[in-house]
Amino acid sequence: MSKWVYFFGDGQAEGRADMKNLLGGKGANLAEMSSLGVPVPAGFTITTEVCTYYYENGETYPADLKQQVMDSLKQIESIMGAKFGDPDNPLLVSVRSGARTSMPGMMDTVLNLGLNDTTVQGLIKLSGDARFAYDSYRRFVTMYSDVVLGVDHYHFEEILESLKEDKGYTLDTEVTAEDWKHLVGVYKAKVLEQLGTPFPEDPVEQMWGSIGAVFGSWMNQRAKTYRRLHHIPGHWGTAVNVQAMVFGNMGDDSATGVCFSRDPSTGENAFYGEYLVNAQGEDVVAGIRTPQNISIAGKEKNNSDLPAMEETMPVIYKELVAIRDRLEVHYKDMQDMEFTIQKNKLWMLQTRNGKRTAAAALKIAVDMCNEGLIDKETAILRVAPEHLDQLLHPTLDPKAPRDLLAHGLPASPGAASGQVVFTADEAEAWAQKGKKVVLVRVETSPEDIGGMHVSQGILTTRGGMTSHAAVVARGMGVPCVAGAGEIRVDYRAKTLTVGDRVVKEGDIITLDGAKGDVFLGEVPTLQPELSGDFADLMLWADKVRRMKVRANAETAEDCGTARKFGAEGVGLCRTEHMFFDPKRIIHIRQMILAEDEAGRRAALEHLLPYQRQDFVEVFTIMQGLPVTIRLLDPPLHEFLPHSENEIADVAASAGVDAATVKSRVAMLQEANPMLGHRGCRLGITYPEVYEMQARAIFEAALEVSEASGETVLPEIMIPLVGSVKELEPMRALVDRVAEETFTAKGQRIEYHVGTMIELPRACLQAAQIAEHAEFFSFGTNDLTQTTLGMSRDDSGPFLEVYAQKGIYPRDPFQSIDVDGVGEMVQIAAERGRKTRPDIKLGICGEHGGDPDSIHFCETVDLNYVSCSPYRVPIARLAAAQSVLLKGKEAEKDR
Ligand code: PEP
Ligand code: MG
Repeated sequence: MSKWVYFFGDGQAEGRADMKNLLGGKGANLAEMSSLGVPVPAGFTITTEVCTYYYENGETYPADLKQQVMDSLKQIESIMGAKFGDPDNPLLVSVRSGARTSMPGMMDTVLNLGLNDTTVQGLIKLSGDARFAYDSYRRFVTMYSDVVLGVDHYHFEEILESLKEDKGYTLDTEVTAEDWKHLVGVYKAKVLEQLGTPFPEDPVEQMWGSIGAVFGSWMNQRAKTYRRLHHIPGHWGTAVNVQAMVFGNMGDDSATGVCFSRDPSTGENAFYGEYLVNAQGEDVVAGIRTPQNISIAGKEKNNSDLPAMEETMPVIYKELVAIRDRLEVHYKDMQDMEFTIQKNKLWMLQTRNGKRTAAAALKIAVDMCNEGLIDKETAILRVAPEHLDQLLHPTLDPKAPRDLLAHGLPASPGAASGQVVFTADEAEAWAQKGKKVVLVRVETSPEDIGGMHVSQGILTTRGGMTSHAAVVARGMGVPCVAGAGEIRVDYRAKTLTVGDRVVKEGDIITLDGAKGDVFLGEVPTLQPELSGDFADLMLWADKVRRMKVRANAETAEDCGTARKFGAEGVGLCRTEHMFFDPKRIIHIRQMILAEDEAGRRAALEHLLPYQRQDFVEVFTIMQGLPVTIRLLDPPLHEFLPHSENEIADVAASAGVDAATVKSRVAMLQEANPMLGHRGCRLGITYPEVYEMQARAIFEAALEVSEASGETVLPEIMIPLVGSVKELEPMRALVDRVAEETFTAKGQRIEYHVGTMIELPRACLQAAQIAEHAEFFSFGTNDLTQTTLGMSRDDSGPFLEVYAQKGIYPRDPFQSIDVDGVGEMVQIAAERGRKTRPDIKLGICGEHGGDPDSIHFCETVDLNYVSCSPYRVPIARLAAAQSVLLKGKEAEKDR
């Protein structure tokens, strides 16, 4: 018989923290807490295997599930001293989802389950509070109807609003017990009217309905979108947790809250949390009421005038602090905990490793290592490389003038400016048009995640540091100011107002997510300083990593950034990018359009000095480090002139008429420029182009080496090679120009010649190609395009569908397709090394900055990865993690 259900409660549990795959994060941690003796309401977890079974068997359950659930329910009853459906002493339960990794708010939850017209009487007796009991009952009916029966929430909201209007109430707190009781009846009548069947009274039927709804919600649209954005596979499934209810809304000696064992924004080792008196958990997360801080220090820090729990409930606060200490030491990581106080008794409802900002992740990892709680290797693995992105982004220039509009909570750090939009859909639509937007909402909900993801920043007017907007923005690394209460949002008029100042849709505002400030207009920003914890962790990572990290850079500015971020050379200098400047592009166009060699040489004469000067700058900045320069690789469509003006300019500079230029442009038009006359094909047909470039490189290298006395290490790279017969003559040309230049200047330097590997043929022919190449640099952008037969410019729209269907779960242009392109790389690496054992292997496609692709590069022993300058720190950390992960995998295989 399979075990589908795992019980926990009263200091015991059948599950453990390391069973997340089976029990989901929530279930595994509830079990662990229960075993540790932390007070947890009794419950059971239905495993993720049941979810898998459910979807593989036409939404049905394994035959023996029912009995296991009913047995566990009996256990809850005996521990909690209450009975499901009992008229005097009813047990109520919650039914919640729980996947392997948390997917906040994406799936369904049902609370207060087990209430009906009979058991509500029992709840009145137990609590002595009819209003509380009927309030719980109506919450249950709305939630169940919405989540399980599919009767939309707004029906119930309308009924409530009209009752409040009739009675002249403005607040929910004015609604009486009798009113709630009456509403329950009206709600049920609404359900009957909508569905033709009555609301279920039988608690067991209610429970199975809710379990089915939670499994069903694994496949709802927002859960699917969330999984796609976070690369969570659909086959993981969710577990379902059924747990005895405890009530934080049983009066002023009851409360509910969320807390973090360290500050999730800054990482500071200070207990941080928020709570609401006389409320249920959903009230905190929904951000409808403004919560109070748990500690006095937190209250002071947030300038709150509401009393802290440390003051109002000092004994329970102490108990909570002790649990926080216990759990953090046990899990050796920052914990995000949910708790409820029912009539002065503390219950823990959840603990998990807390989401945190990048700054906090760094500080917590470094601090915990210094405290002796974890070792350096664990610290390195604790920080998600992608997350560093947040720290590499700008902050507001403190000297810049600014116009403060409003102030809210510093919910997610970083500074961002953008045009105001008021709905998530608008945010997506505007972003698609290339606009930078700031999404402004009263509060956000899980439906908004698509729009939040594309926004530069998020601003809400309601809710605390643990509101949906705050939690999601921090996870996404998007700057966010939450709960800016002085701002009034008018969705209909598409305006936000602060006093008499009005901001319209499309106006620009700036957010400072680290301080919680909102400014009118754009405020200039500053680049980040990478010192302190960041430098410490990078140093540890550098000691562990094997692969070098270089940058793709061609301008002085990019090279400077790359060096500052710790690049160990330039892995790709795209020389065609050096010609986009208007003063130069004209000569490139003239060169491309020339009808004969003399015409091309005339244009190249103009380009040589520019080119030499560019290389002088690059070599000067990168002194002592290798610089890989790729000879011209211009897909022609990027360079041909299009407008009348452009054509006239080229004609004038070449001394021909516009008609001649036009007819040349027409002749050179290619149906498929990415597979056309580009790469080394240009060098083969017009060797004088590569000759000029090689000359510029060697002259610049000699000049810088002489002036600085430092080593200059040029590596000349031939692009888009498919055959050794292409590489051989190009290499001979470079060697010849080198000799000529060295002889003319009476000085020599060391240099290397190698090739890009970006065509499948080159991978297969790597053994032959390696005879003439001292290094290979994998151009995985083109290699992906040519291996998959998918245009890198045109595949976006269908790849999105492919991702949804799991065909290529991640965009293969962003993260390497290990099975296909990866095997190509592996073949080339093996064959190349056979010919030339010391051949240097690197990668310079976009994948060189993607952590998962970097892990792949480690497995095939590449010597270096090269990525855009801003990703260099990300790559340094990812490369270190790759070594550690590879080691762990090897251990597992042993
Ligand atoms: C590549 O193809 O991966 C590459 C780095 O070259 P480019 O993107 O310039 O074609
Ligand atoms: Mg390429």
